[in-house]
Amino acid sequence: MSEKKFDYYISGEQSKWEVIIGLEVHAQILSKSKLFSSSSTKFGAEPNTQVSLVDSAFPGMLPVINQFCIEQSIKTGLGLNAKINLNSIFDRKNYFYADLPQGYQISQYKNPIVGEGEVILDMPYGSRKIGIQRLHLEQDAGKSIHDMDPEKSFVDLNRSGVALMEIVSKPDLRSPEEVNFYIKKLRSIMRYIGTCDGNMQEGSLRADVNVSVRKVGEKTLGTRCEIKNVNSIRFMEMAIDYEAKRQVEALESGKKIDQETRLFDTKKNSTRSMRSKEDAHDYRYFPDPDLLPLNIEKSLIDKLRKELPELPDQKKDRFINEHNLSPYEANILVSEKEISEYYEEVIKESDKKLATNWLIVELFAVLNKKNLHISNSPVSAKNLSSLIKMISSGKISGKIAKKVFEKMQDGDKDPKQIVDKEGLVQQSDPKELEKVILNVLSKNTDKVTQYKSGKVKLFGYFVGEVMNLSKGKANPKLVNEILKKKLK
Ligand code: MN
Repeated sequence: MSEKKFDYYISGEQSKWEVIIGLEVHAQILSKSKLFSSSSTKFGAEPNTQVSLVDSAFPGMLPVINQFCIEQSIKTGLGLNAKINLNSIFDRKNYFYADLPQGYQISQYKNPIVGEGEVILDMPYGSRKIGIQRLHLEQDAGKSIHDMDPEKSFVDLNRSGVALMEIVSKPDLRSPEEVNFYIKKLRSIMRYIGTCDGNMQEGSLRADVNVSVRKVGEKTLGTRCEIKNVNSIRFMEMAIDYEAKRQVEALESGKKIDQETRLFDTKKNSTRSMRSKEDAHDYRYFPDPDLLPLNIEKSLIDKLRKELPELPDQKKDRFINEHNLSPYEANILVSEKEISEYYEEVIKESDKKLATNWLIVELFAVLNKKNLHISNSPVSAKNLSSLIKMISSGKISGKIAKKVFEKMQDGDKDPKQIVDKEGLVQQSDPKELEKVILNVLSKNTDKVTQYKSGKVKLFGYFVGEVMNLSKGKANPKLVNEILKKKLK
């Protein structure tokens, strides 16, 4: 573990401040149909083509709860080590907006389906436990479109009624970096379980960020501001940093922080006031008379718990124990389900240590450069595995392997074919190598004399020449051994 220490404090003119952050994450449940209707949830459809009479709030229509969505949220709660509440209640949260035809959002208020839990973050300065306050179910609203016509606004109700899990953290986060790790961990857990695809571009994961500051050492919380609907991790980090500094500046100049909702302006990189924060009582929450209280059988929870896949934290422990990985390596390899699956596919038949290096160093460099997700890797796990096998069996050198790897990326080519076709097999015949070495030494008699009179650094030069002459194919270990003998 590195010696890095936590160091995110805001230095004001007068004091040092710490930043307190809590997140309300809205995660769209992976499900074919909506929370209270059978309309499709497919992303990108023509506006208003996935809207039932329930979603558009026709008079007399009744919501029917989607059992699958309930199970998805229970599974997520279990993944967050949270308490599942056997009895929960759906409430109406009343407000008016054009994209909310019901005039209220069906949500859960005092009795959510999931209670307290926790998420562990592996920060560079050690592990951090972030409390989960609750997870509740609610329906999404439609989408207002204001930029298609100079005089008119439009409403697309495809999203109306889509199932969301609102995951509320405790105010346990202390820096933009921790928020970054938290969102990624949350997303990773939900993707492992298959309850949310975490796609922030498509709006499947959005967060409201609550930020307050207090002098280091103080115990009470300061007044918080909520930054609404930030849809990228980078923007969240920028918004928190800006907002924390703004609050410190205000407090140090004797002003008070108003509890309010603020918007993050991505172009100006600043937050601005949107409206004074409404309190829960403004929404006139009351139990939805159209929906019965939600009663969950304990046996259902037990069944779902058994169905849970291995989660990132468990997988990390297993990788460390079974494959002898460092915590750092294990963290990277379990950070996404697809990465861990790729890794496990590669090591089925090849050396674990080499595979770890090739994945973390070589493959990730390519994915980063080409901005690709591992599921679109230009090299398949099977072919990377064959490449690694050729290195460990001594058929090719590590240096040649890098060349082969580059060629493999063009259409996921089989490394064996590249090596055979281009004659890249490593030269490991001592007699052949000796010939090359003697050739190099006879061409450099002056350097050999210098070497023998003490300029031992020249050894590297000889190795380099041998490698060049063999076009990189000479077995470096053997070259070293034979060279040493010849230079005695
Ligand atoms: Mn909400």
